Amino acid sequence: MTVAVCYKCGAMKFGAFSACKQCGAMPSSEDDYALSLSITDHYFDISTLEEMGRNIAIGTPPHLDPESRRNLIQMIRSSGMLENTVKAEDISDSVPEEQNANTNRPEWVIVNEFGDSRTYVDRASLQRNGSMVMATVRYALNPPGTDKRNGKPVKEMLMQEEYDISAGRFRVHHILLIYTDGTPSTPLLTEPTWCAATAGNLKTLQFLSGLGTTITEKQKAK
Ligand SMILES: [Zn+2]
Repeated sequence: MTVAVCYKCGAMKFGAFSACKQCGAMPSSEDDYALSLSITDHYFDISTLEEMGRNIAIGTPPHLDPESRRNLIQMIRSSGMLENTVKAEDISDSVPEEQNANTNRPEWVIVNEFGDSRTYVDRASLQRNGSMVMATVRYALNPPGTDKRNGKPVKEMLMQEEYDISAGRFRVHHILLIYTDGTPSTPLLTEPTWCAATAGNLKTLQFLSGLGTTITEKQKAK
């Protein structure tokens, strides 16, 4: 069970999305969810969480760094699990690469198929910085996979993946599982270390680099 901190009162609780037994608070906005996801034992040890809780209790809540906030909110949006949630303020800090980059709608493109499973990239999530591309990638699993932590069947994995196109490598920043009943998992801890992009990740990288060319040509045409 995930140990989490209530974003409102600082009490310790189980599950990032659960109601707080002490104050009754439940995350409702995207910012609440992003903050709640981040202050769990997936990212911090218990003593750090307790310290964060004490700070929340005296009125100084932790602040997500802009990159983590953007990535978590992008992943929450891509999951479609919080469609009625209050939208966060602008999360981009770079020039949107496509006109629809400001909309909240994910734009899924199939980049790979393996058996009956598919890999999608959310084009609306792409953030480029030179040769680096951050992307939300969705793996639709058929047959379902299994969350080893609790044995629950998993129909989708959402990953925040970063690709270094010129070096041919990638790393994973956040992982969220969607169970077959549609509920989200708490995030999985990732150590964002660079790996060579092979197999499916190579296909994603190729897709991202191909897209880069297209966009450059489009910009030239202007
Ligand atoms: Zn609380």
